[in-house]
Amino acid sequence: MDLHKLSLNQQLNGLKEGDFTSTELTSHYLDRISKLDKELNSFITVTEDQALLQAGAADKRYKEKSNLALDGLPIAHKDIFCTKGVLTTCGSKMLSNFEAPYSSTVYEKLDNEGMVMLGKTNMDEFAMGSSNETSYFGPVKNPWDTEYVPGGSSGGSASCVSAELAPVATATDTGGSIRQPASLCGLTGIKPTYGRVSRYGMIAFASSLDQGGVVARSAEDAALILEAMSGHDSKDSTSLKLDKPDLTKGLDDSIKGMKIGLPKEFFAQDMPAYIEKSIEEAIEVYKSLGAEVVEVSLSNINLSLPIYYIIAPAECSANLSRYDGVRYGYRCENPKDIEDLYMRTREEGFGKEVKRRILIGTYALSAGYYDAYYLKAQKCRQLVANDFSEAFKSVDVILSPTTPGTSFKSGEKADDPIEMYLQDIFTIPANLAGLPGLSVPCGEYEGLPLGMQLVGNSLEEAKLLQFAHSYQSNTDWHKKMPNI
Ligand code: GLN
Repeated sequence: MDLHKLSLNQQLNGLKEGDFTSTELTSHYLDRISKLDKELNSFITVTEDQALLQAGAADKRYKEKSNLALDGLPIAHKDIFCTKGVLTTCGSKMLSNFEAPYSSTVYEKLDNEGMVMLGKTNMDEFAMGSSNETSYFGPVKNPWDTEYVPGGSSGGSASCVSAELAPVATATDTGGSIRQPASLCGLTGIKPTYGRVSRYGMIAFASSLDQGGVVARSAEDAALILEAMSGHDSKDSTSLKLDKPDLTKGLDDSIKGMKIGLPKEFFAQDMPAYIEKSIEEAIEVYKSLGAEVVEVSLSNINLSLPIYYIIAPAECSANLSRYDGVRYGYRCENPKDIEDLYMRTREEGFGKEVKRRILIGTYALSAGYYDAYYLKAQKCRQLVANDFSEAFKSVDVILSPTTPGTSFKSGEKADDPIEMYLQDIFTIPANLAGLPGLSVPCGEYEGLPLGMQLVGNSLEEAKLLQFAHSYQSNTDWHKKMPNI
C-alpha cells in the first residue's frame, strides 16, 4: 500500500482501525528516506532507532486502547528545534557537534501527543537564507527538479514533505522561511501569530520575528499539527497567554460573504504574467465561493525589506554572540589566548552569510548609528503594522503571491544577496506585524509549483486555514506531487 499517499487524518484513522501499525508506517517512511534522500539531502540526521522505539510504544498504546491524540504519526523536525540527546545543528559548523541537553517545547508537545520523529531536517545556516544553499551540511534539492532550490530557510522540511519522505514537518519563519519554501515545493505552509507557538528551545535568529509553524500537504493536515504545537508556555516570556486554539472545527465552514483584500501596492509591482494569471484564477475560485474581493492599501509596505534587513541582523548579532567556543558548540584547535579562541572559533565556525548578518547588525546597533538605523527601523515597523490594522477593519484576509517567481536554479542567486533577499518581499511584512500568514499551492509554471499567500489578522489562524481549506476543497493544485 502507498501509505505515503494518505493524508494525516487517513493515516490516523488507519492506525486507529488497525489497518497498519505505526511501526509499518514509520518503516515505510524510513525506507523512502534511505532510498531517496541521498539526492535531496533534506535530512541532516535520521533518527531511525529512536523512531522505531517511539512507533513501537505507540503500537502498544493502540493495543491497550490508551492511545494519544496523534499517536504513531511520523513527523520530521527542522534542525533548529532542540531535541534532547539528538544532534541539533541549526545547519551550522558552529553547532555541528551539539547535542541539546533539553528538548524544545514544540518537540515536547508533539511527542506528548505520540508523534514519531523521523529525523532532523536540513536548513540554511541559522535560518538565514532563501535557497538552502548556506547549510554547512550541503545544499538541499527541490524534488520537483533537482537542479532547482527548495527555498529556505526551511528547505529541508519542504523538500522532504514534498518528496513524501515525511507526511509533515515543523519549520520556522523569521521573514518567510515557512511560506517561501512551501510555495517553491508545492506545499501548504503556515506561520502563526507571533507568540502562538513557543520559542523555547528553538534556536534564536531574530527573536522578535522568529516563529515556529508547519509545512504540510494540505490546510487540513497543517491545522491538525499547528493546533497541537500551539499554546501558552511559561518558559517563553513572549508566549501568548492563550490555550491552544481549535483549528480544525471550522475548516468546512463557508466563506460566503467574507472579504478578501488585495493590496494595491503589491499588484502595482511588475509581476511575471504567469503569477498574475494564477492569482487571478484563484480570485475567481474565491468569488465563486461567495467571497467578496476588494482593494486595500498598505501604503508603507515598500519599507518592509529595508526595515527587516536592519532589525533581523541587529537581533542576530546579539543572539549569535553566545557562540564563543567556551560554552558549547565548535571550538577552534589550539587557541593561543582567549582572544584567539573567540576570533578563530567564530571565523571558522560561521559561514559567509551569517558573518555578513553579524557585521550589518553590529554596525546598526553601534553607538553612533543606533538612532539612525535601528530606532528608525523600529518606528517604521510600527507604520507597517498600522497599515495592516487599518486594512483588517474592512477585510478578513489579505491575498497576494507568496514569492516573486517559481523556484530558481542552484547557484543562480547564491552570489547576489540582494536578489536573494527579494525572495521575501511578499512574506516579510507579516513577520514585522506579527501576523499569521500561510501559503497554498495555486498554480504551476514550466513544471514548477507556485503559491499564493493569505495573511490574517492577529490570532486568526483558524480563519486563514478555513480560507485555504475551502480553496483546496475546490481545486487540485495541492494534490500534485513531484514524480520522484
Ligand atoms: N530569507 C530570509 C532571511 O534570510 C528569511 C529567513 C527566515 O525566515 N528564517 O533572513
